[in-house]
Amino acid sequence: MSHPSFESQLDAYLDGELAAVDARELEVHVAQCRECMEFRDRRLALRAAIKARVPTFQASDVLRARVRATVRKAPRVRPWRSLAIAASLAVVALGTWQLAARRSAGGGGGAPHRRAVIGSAYREAMV
Ligand SMILES: [Zn+2]
Repeated sequence: MSHPSFESQLDAYLDGELAAVDARELEVHVAQCRECMEFRDRRLALRAAIKARVPTFQASDVLRARVRATVRKAPRVRPWRSLAIAASLAVVALGTWQLAARRSAGGGGGAPHRRAVIGSAYREAMV
């Protein structure tokens, strides 16, 4: 692991967001690299100073209630809706194709027309 790679992953590591394999690789490197160990220690000191000096605020009960009400009113995303529309269109297309194929088979000289319908459907499917 190189130093720049270590530096870019350090915050994720300190937040516990790094994958186990990457975290282990990083720990091995830090244990062997004085420069990176000092960088980590400086970053830990900075985090501790921020935590000690930056005040935290609790949301009021009124604000919490307003946020919850807003979240409840937000429209829900329904991913199944677009899937249902696509399935409906596929059923209609299949039905139309079968109807056209039956009509062409029933009429005189339907074979060339049926081939044309099948060919058209095939070309549309390939696009
Ligand atoms: Zn290093």
